[in-house]
Amino acid sequence: MAKRALIGLFGGTFDPVHIGHVQSARELKQLLQLDELRLLPCHRPPHRATPGVSSDARLAMVELAVADEPGLSVDGRELSRDAISYTVDTLSELRSELGDQPALCLIMGTDAFAGLTQWHRWSALLAMAHIIVMARPDSVMPNDEELAALLAERRINNPDLLSDQPAGHILLVSLTAYPVSATSIRRLIAKGDSVESQLAPAVLDYIEQHQLYR
Ligand code: ATP
Repeated sequence: MAKRALIGLFGGTFDPVHIGHVQSARELKQLLQLDELRLLPCHRPPHRATPGVSSDARLAMVELAVADEPGLSVDGRELSRDAISYTVDTLSELRSELGDQPALCLIMGTDAFAGLTQWHRWSALLAMAHIIVMARPDSVMPNDEELAALLAERRINNPDLLSDQPAGHILLVSLTAYPVSATSIRRLIAKGDSVESQLAPAVLDYIEQHQLYR
């Protein structure tokens, strides 16, 4: 039987996209043996303030960052919806397009996973996708009963099991740490400090050309 396709979905504000995002995406693609990994910039994130830089600019930067990365692509669907970006809606849309067969792997950091039970219709997510939780050095798994119960029920330890079923597993992964964040990049640029080592050259050029984050 043909192996089930594995599609990674890496959402974020990407304000701006940085090497922590791109290197982690690359590493995940390899580790999970993904057929493709899509970065999904979100339009109006439900859990935080709307970013100061336009959606179009954030999308353009993500496109530049992955232009030469085989297997990484950008899915801008959340930006074309003029509403709060609920992941559950994005997954339903993807399921209608891609069908029931491919395994969808929703990727998030421990910081995002910690707040999962506050997400809109969160319990529907695992019916449509697996959840991959990336350990982040500065955040620990919260002491939350609901999440603990979910992990006890759904957690797998072997990435090979992701292709057994299209959705429903939770996998925790530890990747190489890149101590970079978009918040600190925005602050450094505003102060006029160098961020060259933290961004893809094409993204840095774009920021300079458009005078972003000054
Ligand atoms: P901000 O500082 O504005 O919160 P961020 O750098 O954390 O931004 P987001 O766009 O919020 O970036 O993150 C999108 C996803 O990327 C989240 O799941 C987040 O956990 C993850 N992520 C962010 N920075 C890194 C990094 N350095 N290494 C690995 N994953 C990261």
